Amino acid sequence: MARNRSVLRVLSAVETYEGAGFLVHRPFPTSALDHFDPFLLLDEMGPMELGPGEAKGAPDHPHRGFETVTYLLSGRMEHGDSRGNHGRLGPGDVQWMTAGSGVVHSEMPETEFASRGGRMHGFQLWVNLPRRDKMMPPRYQEVPAARIPVGRSDDGKVVARVIAGEALGARAVIDTRTPIVYLDLTLAPGGVHEQPLPAGFNAFAYVVEGEGRFDASGTEAAAHDLVLFAGDGDAVRLEAPEGGGALRVLLVAGQPLGEPVARAGPFVMNTRAEVVEAFEDFQAGRLG
Ligand code: MN
Repeated sequence: MARNRSVLRVLSAVETYEGAGFLVHRPFPTSALDHFDPFLLLDEMGPMELGPGEAKGAPDHPHRGFETVTYLLSGRMEHGDSRGNHGRLGPGDVQWMTAGSGVVHSEMPETEFASRGGRMHGFQLWVNLPRRDKMMPPRYQEVPAARIPVGRSDDGKVVARVIAGEALGARAVIDTRTPIVYLDLTLAPGGVHEQPLPAGFNAFAYVVEGEGRFDASGTEAAAHDLVLFAGDGDAVRLEAPEGGGALRVLLVAGQPLGEPVARAGPFVMNTRAEVVEAFEDFQAGRLG
C-alpha cells in the first residue's frame, strides 16, 4: 500500500508582469518561497483575453545553467535563439529547452495570433541543472500536442497528459537530465488520482482550474494555488469533489540536487563567481 504524503503548505501565486508586459501568475519565486529544489520558477502566462495587436512577448534575453519548459494551453508563440533554433508552439505543445552553457532567447506571440488576438494561457517551469550539466551544449526537445502521451484511469474520471515521467500507464517521450515528473492532470467531479512518487522527490501541485483536496486531512486548494507536499510518503493523492467542476492541476516532482544555488536573473549557477562569469560572457557576446 502506498503511503500518501501530507500537504506542507498552500501558497497563492503572485500576479506580476514579465517581458514587454504580459500578465503572469507566479507561485514561485516569491518572498515566501525562493525555489523548491530542483525547481527554480513556475510562471502561469495569463490566462488573458487579448485584443488584436495586444499580445506581448519576451524579446531577446539570455539563459545559462538551467532548463526552461514551456507548455501552452491556449494561444500561439514563436521561439528563436542565438544558435539559430526556431520553433512555434500551439495549444498542448511542449518545448523543453536545456539552456546549458547559454543561449540568447526570444519568446514572442506568433505574428498571426498577435494580429488576430485571442486567449493566451500557458506555463513556464524552470528546472535547475546539476553542476555537471550546467555548461552542456544547449538542446531543444519540441513535442507537439499529438505526441504527448495520455493516460486514463479505469473509471475514465482521470486523464493524465505526461510531459515527464509516467502516469496511468503512459510514459513521457521527453528525456530529462535528472529524474522529473511533470503531469497535466484533469479529474472529473468525484475523480481520484493517486500518483506514486519516489520518497526523496520534492513534489508540488499547481491548480490550473477548479478546486480539490490534496491529502488525507482534506487540505483544499483552488485555481492559482501552489500545493507543496511533505516528504512523508511515496505517493500523492488528489481528489475532485463530487458535485463540483473539473479539477485541473499540474503535478510536478523531481529529485533534489542538493547543490548550492547562485542565481541572478536569467543565470543560475552554483557560485557567485560563475554568475559573474555568465554576465561577462553575455556582455562579450559569447552566448551568441
Ligand atoms: Mn526564455
